[in-house]
This record gives sequence, structure tokens and C-alpha cells, in this order.
Amino acid sequence: MQKRGREEERERSEAKTGHRLVGARSGSEMKVMVAVKRVVDYAVKIRVKPDKSGVETSNVKMSMNPFCEIALEEALRIREAGTAAEVVAVSVGPAQCVDTLRTALAMGADRAIHVDAGAAPVLPLSVAKILKALVQVEQPGLLILGKQAIDDDCNQTGQMIAGLLRWPQGTFASKVVLDKEKQVATVEREVDGGIETLSLDLPAVITTDLRLNQPRYATLPNIMKAKSKVIKKVTPAELNVELKPDLEVVQVAEPPKRKAGVIVSSVDELIHKLKNEARIL
Ligand code: AMP
Repeated sequence: MQKRGREEERERSEAKTGHRLVGARSGSEMKVMVAVKRVVDYAVKIRVKPDKSGVETSNVKMSMNPFCEIALEEALRIREAGTAAEVVAVSVGPAQCVDTLRTALAMGADRAIHVDAGAAPVLPLSVAKILKALVQVEQPGLLILGKQAIDDDCNQTGQMIAGLLRWPQGTFASKVVLDKEKQVATVEREVDGGIETLSLDLPAVITTDLRLNQPRYATLPNIMKAKSKVIKKVTPAELNVELKPDLEVVQVAEPPKRKAGVIVSSVDELIHKLKNEARIL
């Protein structure tokens, strides 16, 4: 989108919300918003519910989505480098998202917002609409998301929110450099056969790839401090977002069980089987 177009969009948003988009204009005042999703922990063996309506989440360890940890780490590094003044973590979902937000606060986020959307899963387009409404209130200069949530593997929310906001997007970022003076983000992304480098005018949306950084662990004192921090709670209705399911999950099934392996007694037997049974030689 051309710079003039974004300015017009910003002016429209300012007129609508009564807020000035300071984050988008001044590096030292810039706010970074990070979307963090609560998902089944990456180390848990996934079980499908008996009625095949989804994945079992009761009595299962839940954690912050690993790509969201990377997103938060990047935001913290940007603030620590003096390019941003504040990091705000946002999570959309049931009451337990507060735990994920406490982890974000313990890692170093300044503030946290829980959008209480109840127990039903919230699909990427709805999350994107909610994030758009929050962006209009909070006015960050940068919105960072994980490239995908490991529970639904959608890889959609970042692209959708960039489209809704008409902000430039740097997806699958493996390196991010911010120029505070020029208000530009340079994003490197790994593509087939090389590295693509993009230059994005701020405000912008960035989604994080695995190699962007190594997220920090929350220290015990910070975990204790995070327990007493206030987490702002809003509902989708308060943000004027109607949660409409735009797609239906018909069925979730486990992959077919693999057949047991065969132990061969010699290399010759292995080659014979690969040639005559598997037919891959
Ligand atoms: P997805 O498009 O579902 O694969 O998710 C991509 C990214 O969008 C995640 O890594 C999060 O940064 C963000 N996101 C998706 N769903 C939520 C949610 N319910 N709450 C907060 N962030 C979310």
C-alpha cells in the first residue's frame, strides 16, 4: 500500500477512535503488540476426542505457542534496543489464556490484554478482526505474530490482520531490523532457494519463523512479579466484533497407524526386500 493511502487510513482510524497513532510516528514512543496463543504444549502427544470433533484439551498441558514465544522475544529485543517503548501481549480465548499472558508478562511484556472469547475455538478471521479492533485502540507501530499456531497449523491470522488493516506484512521473518528514524522495518524471510529481503513502512505486521531468535526463559522472580500484574479483560462484543464461525470442522482423525517394521538378518536380505517388495531400488 502506498504511504499516502496508509496515512489516509490512519487519519480515518484516528477520527473514528479519537486516538492519535503516536506508535506509528515516533520510534521512542512506539508500542509493539504481540499476539500470543494458548495451545497444547508442543511436547504433549496429541489425542483425538472420541467423537472426532477435535483434539483432547482437558487435563492436557497447555503452553504459549512456540512461534508466539519467538514473536514476544523479538518484541522484547526491539524494546531493549530502545526502538520501542512498550510491549503489549494479547491473547484471545477462554479464561485460561490468562496463564499464557502471565508467562508473557514474566518474560518481560509491559502489559497484557485478554480477549475473553469463551470456550469455543476462535478461528483466524475472528482473531484477526479482534486484533484489528485492538490495534485501533492501542495503536501499535508494529504487530508481531507467530507464523502459525501449532494446534491448527492455519498460518492465516497474520496475513488476514495485515489485509484488514491494509498494513504491509513481512511473513516468516528470520531477521528483523528496525530503522527508528526512517520508520522502516527490514525483514529477511527464508524462501525456496534463498533469502528474500523486504523493506516495510511502519506500521506493519510481522510473523515469525523458527530461526528468528531463541526465546528467553522467564526467571522465578519475574514469574512471581507477573502474578500480581493486572491483566485487562475485554470481550469481542465490547470491541464490536461478532464471532461468526466462517468454516466448520467436519472431522478430526488420527493418521493411520503405521505397520510394524521387519527385522532383517543381513544387508543382502535388506537389498532384496527394497528391490522386490518396496520396489524403491
Ligand atoms: P494461525 O493463523 O492460527 O496459525 O496463528 C498464527 C498466529 O496468530 C499465532 O502464532 C498467534 O500469534 C496469532 N493467533 C492466532 N490465534 C490467536 C489467539 N486465539 N490469540 C492470540 N493470538 C492468536
